[in-house]
Amino acid sequence: MYNSQSTVGLQLLGAHSVHLIDYFVQPFRAGVYVLSRDGSTAHYIGRSDYDLRDRIKTSSQTQRRGRLPYTHFWYQYANNAVEAYRLECMLYHKYSPSDNDVHPASPEGTNVSCHICKK
Ligand SMILES: [Zn+2]
Repeated sequence: MYNSQSTVGLQLLGAHSVHLIDYFVQPFRAGVYVLSRDGSTAHYIGRSDYDLRDRIKTSSQTQRRGRLPYTHFWYQYANNAVEAYRLECMLYHKYSPSDNDVHPASPEGTNVSCHICKK
């Protein structure tokens, strides 16, 4: 299913409480994250190409109408934006998270497509 360029695999760290983002996640790193309302279900997935810590904080505090707040997160660093995008696509297709309305967008300034669904 994955092509030969797909050397990076999912190795998420967590689950951790959303109150401990600063403790676990280094600033100014690219990477991906998963948010959960119960500590076990992947409800939302995302990535940052520049600052994963800041992105998880902002994203975990985003209120979704009629839904409980996020309580836990997982994360994984990436070496660059394209690697982060590949990881994000893997998360998206693996979990089909209920809070993600659209397929992940490719990194700014690139035209890489999803290696799983070719979108
Ligand atoms: Zn895809």
